[in-house]
Amino acid sequence: MTIKERYSKVIAYFQQQAPNAETELLYDNPFQLLVAVVLSAQCTDKRVNLTTPALFERFPDAEALSNASVEEVFALIRSISYPNNKAKHLVGLGKMLMEQFNGEVPMTVEELVRLPGVGRKTANVITSVVDAQPNMAVDTHVFRVSARLGLTKNARTPLAAEKQLIRHLPKELVHIAHHWLILHGRYVCTARSPQCSGCGLSDICVFYKRTQAKQPTKTTHGK
Ligand code: SF4
Repeated sequence: MTIKERYSKVIAYFQQQAPNAETELLYDNPFQLLVAVVLSAQCTDKRVNLTTPALFERFPDAEALSNASVEEVFALIRSISYPNNKAKHLVGLGKMLMEQFNGEVPMTVEELVRLPGVGRKTANVITSVVDAQPNMAVDTHVFRVSARLGLTKNARTPLAAEKQLIRHLPKELVHIAHHWLILHGRYVCTARSPQCSGCGLSDICVFYKRTQAKQPTKTTHGK
């Protein structure tokens, strides 16, 4: 199977299974999404969604956040992983949005990565989710699922995986493909026990083929 055929099959599968895939983070505007994505590093979306309503009520925009103290923010996000660092990042982020971006969330990766707590992955999420830009955020799920399905080959870093995915995915599908791969990794192709028997991609999956080949063959001795 050529790489082109492999991508076509994966795309066709997800277009049928999850035509409206989207982020599971709850947000009403780009500012809220940015805050939620910063909080979601090393934390589940579920936990973030439990935390953000009170945070957004207290700090509804960049201006409010820029005037917050780290302690105030910390108190509202303490149940999230790394609350200390994240509280500092959020206050710094609010200040920089006010000082350099007129209180608005910029919509280029280059500008976004200048904000505290915002790396390439977060910037790719924001620009692809808010603006449908063809930027692929590679998190642990995207990295693993892409490799298992053979969409990436020998990619040693998220950036290497990102480049391979971008090269082969049609531009207009990059933003939704991110959600396809994340959700598949979260609910079907999990790290430790992928549910291959119920996965509609097993016939083309490189990982499945390899693990099946390792299964001991049944013998018919004694029959
Ligand atoms: S067949 Fe298994 S390893 Fe392959 S994508 Fe599906 S769940 Fe993941």
